[in-house]
Amino acid sequence: MGKMDDPTCSLCQGRQTTEHVLSSCKVALSQGRYTWRHNRVLQELVSVMSTAKGEIHSSSTSSTVFTTEGGVKKWHGGSITINNHRTGLLDGCDDWVVSADLPEWERHLDVIRKTALWPDIVIHSASTQQIIMVELTVPYKSRMEEAHTFKEGKYLNLTKELKKDGYEAKVMPVEIGARGFVGSSAYGLLSKLSIYGNKRTKALRLLAETAENSSRWIWSRRNESHCSKSIVFVVETPAAAAAGATAVTVALASAVTAAMSVSAAEAAQQQQQQR
Ligand SMILES: [Zn+2]
Repeated sequence: MGKMDDPTCSLCQGRQTTEHVLSSCKVALSQGRYTWRHNRVLQELVSVMSTAKGEIHSSSTSSTVFTTEGGVKKWHGGSITINNHRTGLLDGCDDWVVSADLPEWERHLDVIRKTALWPDIVIHSASTQQIIMVELTVPYKSRMEEAHTFKEGKYLNLTKELKKDGYEAKVMPVEIGARGFVGSSAYGLLSKLSIYGNKRTKALRLLAETAENSSRWIWSRRNESHCSKSIVFVVETPAAAAAGATAVTVALASAVTAAMSVSAAEAAQQQQQQR
C-alpha cells in the first residue's frame, strides 16, 4: 500500500499506518492504549519472574551438586545449564522479594520509591543488599534497540544513586515487540534468572502472545475514538509522565469521554492513594 493510500487516523488525523496505530499515535498514547498493553505484558512478565526463586531452590538441592572431601561444594560436570546456574543473578541468597509497578503487586522498596523513577519490576534481597530493576518496553520491532538503549540511559543515575546507598544495583531493560517479536533481552533476562528450557520457551511465547493479542485489540479499535468495551486502561497523565512516575487507573466504561479528562488534582490524589 502506497503512502497516498493510508487512511486517516480517527484519533489524531495522522496517517493510519500499522506502526502509527500500534505504537506512534499520540492520542492513543494519551488515552492509555499503549500503557494498557504494556501492563498486560508486565503482569505476565512479573508472574514468570516471581517463579524464578523456586527454580533456584530446586537447583541447590539437585543431585548435580556434590561435596568434595574438603567440604567444598562443586558442580558436577560442565553442562551449560549448570554453568548458567552458577552465574544466575539470584544465586547466593534466598530472600528475594519481587515488587512491580502494578496495583495488585507489592510496592517497591522505599529507597526506590523516594526517587522519581519507578522501574516496572524490582527484585530485592535485603540480606545481600542487591537490587535488580527490570524495565519493560513494548515497542514496534524497528525500535527495539532504541528502546533498550533509552531505558539503560534513563536508569543509569538511579543505579549510581543506589550504589552510593550501599546497594548492588543493576537495571535490565527488556523488550517484547508490539507485534509479538521477542528480542534477545527477554531471553537473556529469563536465562539470568535461571529459567531455562521448556519453561523459558513457554514464558517467551506467553509474553509474545500477550503483546500480539493486545496489539490486535488496539488495532481492531483503531477507528473508535473512545472505547466501546468496558475495560480498565491505565492512563499516564502528562504531569505524572513528566515526573517520571506512572499511572492513574481509570475505568473506562462504555464510551465515557469524561473518564479520560481526570483533572490533574484528582490524578495526583489517586496516585497518592495507589502508592
Ligand atoms: Zn493517530
